[in-house]
Amino acid sequence: MSNCPILFRALLGGALVASLLACRPERKPAETTTAPAVAAKPAATAPATPRKADFAEQSLKNAGLVDVQTLDPAILVDLKYSTTDNFVGVDVYGDLTRAYLQTVPAQKLVKAQQLLVESRPGYHLLIYDAARPRRVQQILWDTLKKPPRLKPLYVADPKEGSIHNYGAAVDLTIADERGQPLDMGTSFDFFGELAYPTKEDSLVKLGKLTLRQITNRRTLREVMRRAGFAPIDSEWWHFNAMSLERCKQEYGIIE
Ligand SMILES: [Zn+2]
Repeated sequence: MSNCPILFRALLGGALVASLLACRPERKPAETTTAPAVAAKPAATAPATPRKADFAEQSLKNAGLVDVQTLDPAILVDLKYSTTDNFVGVDVYGDLTRAYLQTVPAQKLVKAQQLLVESRPGYHLLIYDAARPRRVQQILWDTLKKPPRLKPLYVADPKEGSIHNYGAAVDLTIADERGQPLDMGTSFDFFGELAYPTKEDSLVKLGKLTLRQITNRRTLREVMRRAGFAPIDSEWWHFNAMSLERCKQEYGIIE
């Protein structure tokens, strides 16, 4: 989210940790459920964990967003929040497995895919997250096992909302002809300086990233920038199609 870097700087003054804002916290193993230790109650009354955002896809359609792959099937989608391979270790997306964006951001993404194949024939953009209903943001916030004062370091506060909640931000990488993600030096949602675009040159000098890894990141940034997206300082995978202020003017938040 575009508000992430600002929040991060405000909170941490440039310290390394967390891409805070963004989209999520450190990776950790799948959470154990909170099922009661003593199975005294019938299953029907047991806590329903993990929570999922049922009908999330319908809420995106109702808000007028478009399924990106209907505009360009060459763009690949692997929504990490619809799997357990994410920073909370829980599938929070329920029925949502396709990537939705507002129309203008979706059209920009189609342009980015076209620019990519001009320089890398056969390659694909691979989306990890796109529009994210605010109630999913709330589930991430509630699921995150951190003290409340530390949560904003890992996830944007759902009360404020993020550009993802307006359908105008996308998390993505590049995949080769076989659909395999390129080596970007860190996984998606890695929390730390290794994921910072602003630190790449020094990290290469320190031997913590390779030239090939930052070349792959630069290829992604170049096609996204030329298509009208803005990168952020702390996550190589996150791009905004417009500012949070403009989102508020143009679109309603997706609940
Ligand atoms: Zn993001």
